[in-house]
Amino acid sequence: MNGERPSSVSRLVTVYIVFCVIVLLSMAISLNHLVRTSTSIQANNILSLMSEKVNTSFNMMVNYVGEAAEIIAADEECDPLKSYEQLQKTVEAMPYSGIGIIDGSGRVYGKAGEKLDIEKQGFAAHLEEADDIYISEPYRSSVTGSNMITMFAPIHQNGKKAGYLYANYALETVQELAYTNVLSDRTSVFLMNPFSGNYVSCSEDGGTPAGTWSNLRLIKAGIQGINGYDYNRWLENMRINSADNLVNYNYNNTAYTEVYMDIHGMKNWYLVIRIPLEELSYAMHQYTLGVGICAALLILATVLLAAHLYEQEHRQNETLQDLSDHDPLTGLYNRRAFDERLEDVFGSGPPEDTCTFMFFDIDYFKSVNDNHGHAAGDTVLCAVAGAIDHAFADTGLAARIGGDEFNVFIYEPLTVADIDDILANLRQKLKNFKLENGEALPISFSAGLAVCPQDAHDLKSLKDCADKALYVVKDAGRNDHRWYHDIKQ
Ligand code: GH3
Ligand code: MG
Repeated sequence: MNGERPSSVSRLVTVYIVFCVIVLLSMAISLNHLVRTSTSIQANNILSLMSEKVNTSFNMMVNYVGEAAEIIAADEECDPLKSYEQLQKTVEAMPYSGIGIIDGSGRVYGKAGEKLDIEKQGFAAHLEEADDIYISEPYRSSVTGSNMITMFAPIHQNGKKAGYLYANYALETVQELAYTNVLSDRTSVFLMNPFSGNYVSCSEDGGTPAGTWSNLRLIKAGIQGINGYDYNRWLENMRINSADNLVNYNYNNTAYTEVYMDIHGMKNWYLVIRIPLEELSYAMHQYTLGVGICAALLILATVLLAAHLYEQEHRQNETLQDLSDHDPLTGLYNRRAFDERLEDVFGSGPPEDTCTFMFFDIDYFKSVNDNHGHAAGDTVLCAVAGAIDHAFADTGLAARIGGDEFNVFIYEPLTVADIDDILANLRQKLKNFKLENGEALPISFSAGLAVCPQDAHDLKSLKDCADKALYVVKDAGRNDHRWYHDIKQ
């Protein structure tokens, strides 16, 4: 019955919302994929740019040391002291922190601390082996106290090594080589030895000062590869200087991407650059968040709109239902709706409790129309309907079934005396009826009543009994009501 009609709006809206959710979900998935892809592409691009920059700068440093050594070698006189003094003039303008010369006999022309370092670090053995430029392992400088690397370039004269030129570079300089405006604060640069696991930071990094030495053994357990990367594998790659030099990993709840690059002339040590992945994906994440908020607002707006449309449709349906169930003049149930409800009640046999059916007809209603006009007749119909409805509001169901005819189904088990009283009151009330202009227009009615199950067990018979009782009243002169059980013999 009421409300079972499927709602076209709610069906459409459900399809629309499902469609929206599918579209938004696919958007979210592809956006997430895009963020990941773009982050790793960005990481690769940034790191390869940085490595290229560092390599170029390193090569320039190496070239400079080599060229300076060649210039000294070209001077036939090759006075180490004079060359040393000449070189000192360039210190201020160049990125190295100290420069000096070692002559053929191993005598060092340099600052006292530098001499000490050269002896202490035992570079002599390496220098003899190396034909080309040799870059030392990182060490702590006796002159500045900071971590250093030293580049040695052989001074060749007459096909023999006549000595070496050396230049000291602080590790901070290496960091500066990798400096880029992009991610300047979050880029960490290390020198790393994959064989010993030693690494030294070239920059201040999250509280770790530049020059801090550490060993991978201390932190390796906390490193977990992501996106299929394996940190140990990456270290192995570094040992053989494989081109597969990038790793993504999580450490201390932060995702990083890290690459190594070979430093020409610096045996066993690699330059490592690291950036946090979140830095790269931040903008994309913000964008995703924005899209997510818009999508949520869109869904919310759709749901609100849907709810509004649904409610409107529901109200329209109710109004339609109301109109189709009720008599437009009096507001009472019409015959069809009334019969439907009664069929429900009698559907599975007579009701358990005693119930009563009443046929009701206004007496000489035609004369009201004739004498006072159709509008007055309508007013009377409404007044009678209202009075009947009021009289049986809690005990029965009233309907206008045509012209001046009404039916009441009294479902409460009222006694004959109860109903006689109610009808007497109703009669009194209608007798005193006045039109809107104050003119008295006494109304009388006739009614016939039948009781279920005493008079009849089914609805049709019950109605027939009540109808017969009504006609007895009409024949007897009207303005009365009769019970079927009183007239049947
Ligand atoms: P009786 O005492 O035998 O019932 O006589 P009656 O004049 O009441 O006769 P009946 O019940 O047959 O007349 C019903 C009249 O009601 C007929 C019709 O003109 C009038 N009527 C039917 N519907 C409406 C309506 O909606 N408005 C008005 N004003 N009159 C209506
Ligand atoms: Mg009548």
